[in-house]
Amino acid sequence: MPDTLLSRFLRYVQIDTQSDARSDTTPSSPGQWDLLRLLETELRALGAADIHLDAFGYLTASVPATSDKDLPTVAFLAHVDTADFPGANVKPLLHPAWDGQPIRLPDDPAQVLDPALYPDLRTAVGKDVVTASGRTLLGADDKAGVAVVMTLVDYLLAHPEVKHGPLRVCFNPDEEIGRGVEKLDLRALGADVAYTLDGEYPGEVNWETFSGDSAVVTIEGVSTHPGWAKPQGMVNALHLAAKLLAVLEAERAGPEYSAGRQGFIHATNLEGNTARAVLRFILRDFDLDGLAAKGARLTQLCTGLQAAEPRARIQLEIKPTYRNMGEWLKQDMRPVDLALEAMRATGLETKIIPVRGGTDGSRLTERGLPTPNLFDGGHNWHGPLEWVAVQDMELAVQACLALIRLWEERGGDYPRSFSRQ
Ligand SMILES: [Zn+2]
Repeated sequence: MPDTLLSRFLRYVQIDTQSDARSDTTPSSPGQWDLLRLLETELRALGAADIHLDAFGYLTASVPATSDKDLPTVAFLAHVDTADFPGANVKPLLHPAWDGQPIRLPDDPAQVLDPALYPDLRTAVGKDVVTASGRTLLGADDKAGVAVVMTLVDYLLAHPEVKHGPLRVCFNPDEEIGRGVEKLDLRALGADVAYTLDGEYPGEVNWETFSGDSAVVTIEGVSTHPGWAKPQGMVNALHLAAKLLAVLEAERAGPEYSAGRQGFIHATNLEGNTARAVLRFILRDFDLDGLAAKGARLTQLCTGLQAAEPRARIQLEIKPTYRNMGEWLKQDMRPVDLALEAMRATGLETKIIPVRGGTDGSRLTERGLPTPNLFDGGHNWHGPLEWVAVQDMELAVQACLALIRLWEERGGDYPRSFSRQ
């Protein structure tokens, strides 16, 4: 039986590729190698060119150009790892032509996919829906993307009559722990524009993400014997940390008060004792001015705390994490405009959703490779109720084909950032 989008997807999700933030290797977990090596073998069987699996688990391959025009190189990426939820022994369940009735997952009957609670499911009535069985995630994030890219390669190699420029594909590890593309060699990839397949809704294109900084506040108090705390001038670092947090809470600065395009200051960790407390924050905003304002507010609070208690020593360090890809894409919107046109050409209503987080594309765009994100059809990510409809993944393949055709028609004068080096 020939391989299909569905048979690929079912095969990939059964490989445990959960990434591990505590590991400092790349990939962070051995299971990711299992999927990467399988994909390497499958790319070879399909007849892809330049197949290369590097020491950090970046698997790249080419689909050579079929057009005789001079065109930029377009890349498609998907990540092989899955999120921080059990990913071993995934038993994917197919619900063919789903009738719209709630789906109770057999291994944990408390897990129910009910369209009354998850309205996105209503778009899947009549489609072939895949779920997990209750105790694990499904791994559609991002094995739906992996299956879409592999099916795209299969189709293009079997249909040389489809005119296109040079294409690259890349499967990368460790997106879920924020290290997805740190070690990716962009010269070796050699693409001028790229797309990640890691979004949800058919028609979705993401070209804006948060910009993020991290901040660490270190408070050194004065520790004494508690019996002599008053004469010896104890300054309790824990109380100073609590004051800082209380102001931020009163200002509703945290993510639990923010939605849409609003940013936040999120306290992620507090460790300490009387002598010393360390508070960790992440700062997020879509606009760099807004992000800077959040850093400035934290600075102001630390300065105020220091002035109120001169015997303490308060230090604040802010470091950039990632930047909104929109800062770069706005300078040349063709990668986004062609993606939106490809969605319409596929018969889909476009959905532009700013991502309240970072994507692999945020870092790639910042490093000089413009990389918007496209849908792959998965929903309810990172938990047991993840699902995907086969027909939605098929739409993602069609949208990528439309996009490839558009780049062939109109991409000739797009700047070559990496393909000519
Ligand atoms: Zn993902």
